[in-house]
Amino acid sequence: MITLEGVAAGYAGSAVVRDLSLEVRAGEVVGLLGPNGAGKTTTLLTISGILRPLAGTVTVLGQQPQTRFPHRLARQGVAHVTESRNLFYELTVDENLRIALRGSKADKQARRDEVDELFPALRPLRKRKAGLLSGGEQQMLAMARALASKPQVLLLDEMSLGLAPIIVERLLATVRELADRTGCAVLLVEQHVPLALEVVDRAYVLAHGNVVLSGTAEELRGNAQVLESSYLGDS
Ligand code: ATP
Repeated sequence: MITLEGVAAGYAGSAVVRDLSLEVRAGEVVGLLGPNGAGKTTTLLTISGILRPLAGTVTVLGQQPQTRFPHRLARQGVAHVTESRNLFYELTVDENLRIALRGSKADKQARRDEVDELFPALRPLRKRKAGLLSGGEQQMLAMARALASKPQVLLLDEMSLGLAPIIVERLLATVRELADRTGCAVLLVEQHVPLALEVVDRAYVLAHGNVVLSGTAEELRGNAQVLESSYLGDS
């Protein structure tokens, strides 16, 4: 569903990610881990086509990402939840979700029911403006909105930002359930390494724009270098 081969990416022609190769298959949850500034966000932006690779090939759902316009991504089956969450803060929870729903009336209802099931905590908050939700609730809404677009590929950037570990744990469990249930391929960027390793199938550890380590969650769980990378400041 996602394949990167020898990818270099960065800003204004200068690479912050170099020679990166990775793969995420249908139904897999894969972690992209590593310290601040390692190039994780840059990698997600390149996968969703917001940044063009400077070298190498990016293939998403069998195609090279074409768009620099995030709103077109959903139609292509790619949902990207960025660190800033990009909610419509003046609109209610319900309105934020309705904007993302696609397809026939029956399709929309089915997606709505699924979102309700995966995020029961949002149900009583439907009429509340997104700007008045707590950080955890906003993150849930950002994810719920991504799911409402029925993605085949889900890119999640630092969903734990500013959230208590217990909330992060719940969100990660929801991501796992989504991948298992729908076959969606999930690539999640996470600095909270021990929590991420509880739910991912595999992970890549990035430092200085390169993959320094990769393996199954089980292989990485006992690896001191991986666990340390969650506490490092800059790469
Ligand atoms: P973090 O967890 O801090 O977001 P990250 O691993 O996601 O880290 P990136 O955001 O991909 O790292 O950043 C990698 C490098 O690219 C950093 O040195 C950063 O300063 C630089 N960078 C990020 N965005 C831009 C930009 N718009 N223009 C120029 N350089 C940038």
